[in-house]
Amino acid sequence: MSRLDQADPEVSAMIAAEQRRQHAKIRLIPSENYVTQAVLDATGSILTNKYSEGYPGDRYYEGQQQIDKIEQLAIDRARALFGAEHINVQPYSGSPANQAVYVALAQPGDTVMGLSLAHGGHLTHGAGVSISGLHYNAVQYGVDVETGYLDYDEIEKLAVQTQPKLIFCGTTAYPRILDFERFAAIGKKVGALVVADIAHIAGLVATGVHPSPVDHVDVVTTTTHKSLRGPRGGMIMCRKQYAQAIDKAVFPGLQGGPHNHTTAAVAVALKEADTDEFRRYAQAIVDNAQILGAALMERGFGVVSGGTDNHLLLIDMSTKSVTGNQMSKALDAAGIVCNYNLVPGDTRSARRPSGIRIGTPAITSRGFGANEMLKLADWMNEVAEIRADASIEQDARRQAYRRIAEQVRELCDQFPAPGIDAPNN
Ligand SMILES: *Cc1c(COP(=O)(O)O)cnc(C)c1O
Repeated sequence: MSRLDQADPEVSAMIAAEQRRQHAKIRLIPSENYVTQAVLDATGSILTNKYSEGYPGDRYYEGQQQIDKIEQLAIDRARALFGAEHINVQPYSGSPANQAVYVALAQPGDTVMGLSLAHGGHLTHGAGVSISGLHYNAVQYGVDVETGYLDYDEIEKLAVQTQPKLIFCGTTAYPRILDFERFAAIGKKVGALVVADIAHIAGLVATGVHPSPVDHVDVVTTTTHKSLRGPRGGMIMCRKQYAQAIDKAVFPGLQGGPHNHTTAAVAVALKEADTDEFRRYAQAIVDNAQILGAALMERGFGVVSGGTDNHLLLIDMSTKSVTGNQMSKALDAAGIVCNYNLVPGDTRSARRPSGIRIGTPAITSRGFGANEMLKLADWMNEVAEIRADASIEQDARRQAYRRIAEQVRELCDQFPAPGIDAPNN
C-alpha cells in the first residue's frame, strides 16, 4: 500500500483507475502526451513546498539556494534548445503565458489579431468568450475553407485594414507548417508585434521537425506539456528588448510564486528533449501522423487539407455519415480517445461539429509505428461504419465497440506508456 492509499483511499483509487485508463486506451488527443517517470518524479517533489516570488538572484523570500539554480538551469536548457534571447519559465500554463504577453505589450481596447477558434486558433487568440476577446478589440482571421490552408494574402489584407498592435500565429487544430517568416513580414508591414504560440508543436520546433519562429517573431509562447512532453506549464521566449516587460507581466503583473516543482520538471523535460532519441521521437510523430492520414483517406475519411505536415489530423466525418460527436463517443467506447472539433467552414455548431481532431504525440511516446497506424485506421473505419449503420441495435453496437476496445487493450499491453506501470503491477 502506498502512502496515498493509506491517507486517502478515495483519491488513490481514482488515480489508479485513471492510470488504467491511460494505459488501456489509445490516446489521440493531440495536446496530450505521456511524460517520463523522471518528469513525474520532479513534478511530485518537495519543491512544491517553496515560495519564490521574483526571479533567480532577485527574490522576495529567503531560502532560494536551490530554487535559483533550478530555475536558471531550466532557462539555460530552454535557451540551448530554442535559441531565444530571453526566456521566462514561470507561466503556470499556456493561457497565462499568452495573457502575460497581452499585459506586457498591449493595452485593454487595443486591436489584436489571431486565428479564429472555429478555424483552429486558441481561445486566448481573441475568442469572444476569453479575456483576450473581452478586453481587447479582437480581429480574427481564418483558413481558406476550400483548401484548409492559411491564406497569407488575406491575413495581410486584414492586418493592413485593421492595424493590430499584436498578431498571434499559432494553432490548436491546423495540420500544416506555419510560415513564421511571412507572419513576421506582415507584422513588420503594419507595425504590429508578432507572437508565435507554439504550444502544440514545441517538441517539433525544438528538434527542427517544424521550422522555428524564434529568429523571426518578437515573442514566442508555449506550453510545456504537449509535444514537448514536460509537466503542465508554460514558457515565454522573446527578444531582449521585451524581456523586462514580459518578466514584469508574469510577476507581479499576473502571478505570484512560481511552481518550482513544475520548473524542475520543465528542466528535466528540456534535457530529455535535447537528445537524439527525442529528435527521432519528434520525426516519428510526424511520420505516424502522415501514415495514419493516408490510411484514413484510403478508407474514405475526409482529411482536412488532404493530409498533415505535423502531429495532427483534422477529420471531417461527414463523408462517413456521422457527426464529430457521434464519432468521438463511439471511438471512446471502442478504447480510442479523441475530441470532436469544428472543421473549416463547418455548418454545424461548436458543441455538435462535423469533425474530430486526432494526433500522434502520445501514441508515438508509447512506441506505436507504421503497423499500429494501419490497425488504428482499420479500427476507426470499423467504428465509423458501425455508428453510421442505422440497422444495428444499440446493444449490438455496444458489444461491437467493446470487442474493438479489447483488441485495443491487447495492443496497448504490448506498448507500455512512459511513466505508467504495466498492468497488474
Ligand atoms: C493548449 C494551447 C494553449 C493553452 O494552454 P493551457 O495550458 O491549456 O492553458 C494556448 N495556445 C495554444 C495554441 C494551445 O494549443
